[in-house]
Amino acid sequence: MSKQTITVIKGDGIGPSIVEAAIAVLEKAGCEFDYEYVDAGLTALEKTGELLPQATLDAIARNKITLKGPLTTPVGEGFTSINVTLRKKFNLYANVRPVISFKGTKARYDNIDIITIRENTEGMYSGHGQVVSADGLVAEATSIVTKEGARRIAEFAFETARREKRKKVTIVHKANILKSTSGLFLKTAREVAANYPDIEAQEMIVDNTCMQLVMNPQQFDVIVTTNLFGDILSDLCAGLVGGLGMAPGANIGADCAIFEAVHGSAPDIAGKNLANPSSVILASIQMLEYLGMQDKAEKIRSALADVIASGDRTTRDLGGSFGTTDFTAAVLERL
Ligand code: NAD
Repeated sequence: MSKQTITVIKGDGIGPSIVEAAIAVLEKAGCEFDYEYVDAGLTALEKTGELLPQATLDAIARNKITLKGPLTTPVGEGFTSINVTLRKKFNLYANVRPVISFKGTKARYDNIDIITIRENTEGMYSGHGQVVSADGLVAEATSIVTKEGARRIAEFAFETARREKRKKVTIVHKANILKSTSGLFLKTAREVAANYPDIEAQEMIVDNTCMQLVMNPQQFDVIVTTNLFGDILSDLCAGLVGGLGMAPGANIGADCAIFEAVHGSAPDIAGKNLANPSSVILASIQMLEYLGMQDKAEKIRSALADVIASGDRTTRDLGGSFGTTDFTAAVLERL
């Protein structure tokens, strides 16, 4: 059988150090992949004059699976977010952000296991019809929700719940106020839910969801929602388990998937060997699960969990005093 080739974008800032850590972990766990390294973001801009070179887009399309470090989007006019561009270009309609409690983090809660499934291509991020009045005193943004977009993300959520033997999907909306967009999303998600009688479908308004997540997060299992609500709720969920350093995300489409850390390129600690590589390692675990390599995924997850629980060479954000390379060595030793 030919080896799976993974497109790897090391990214900017702390990206290269944490992606190299994740690749070392994959190798040590015995995952037999080929890797094709390409550039994007500031690194690509400096080398080629483009933030997203065609060779990078070609590699993502050709290999189908990408592991990506965080990218810096230069501030200023003319630069659209590379992440939003990638999601649109490859129609990566599902953003899957799992958070799980690890013993040993300074998190507020334990026993959290929530997957937020966020629609990734529509809603307030459609980017259509941004209008500003000539005097600059009025701004407007259009949110687009389609029946087809709502149906496919709701189906994705219920299919994920069924595959992962989860009990409940919470449909998060604001249909009481945003009657057209959020109303269409809720109505469509209800129709989809009716086809999954084995899974409890719960409906919750987004503001109440925020309070419930803070007060009683253990009640949640899978959350499905529109783009902006999902963006905000998934960061809230990351906060429940110890912050962005512990939060991976997958962008999944019909024939392509990009796995990444939720956090950015952390320019404040770049080059200082301080970054926690856990979120990219967790993203590569998500990648292995997507590829059906559950045994390798579990092996890496338990090595990571053991390092964090025992406090062996953990990074500063986890309460330790060690660097990225020490932390990675501690994970590698357990594999
Ligand atoms: P950030 O996530 O890079 O950093 C926020 C804070 O968290 C910083 O104090 C940073 O030091 C800390 N932090 C982040 N990751 C960490 C890790 N692994 N270990 C320890 N500490 C960590 O957010 P920002 O500073 O707002 O953004 C910096 C750049 O990243 C911007 O250019 C932004 O556009 C980009 N960004 C990229 C992505 C992505 O590529 N997916 C996501 C968000 C932001």
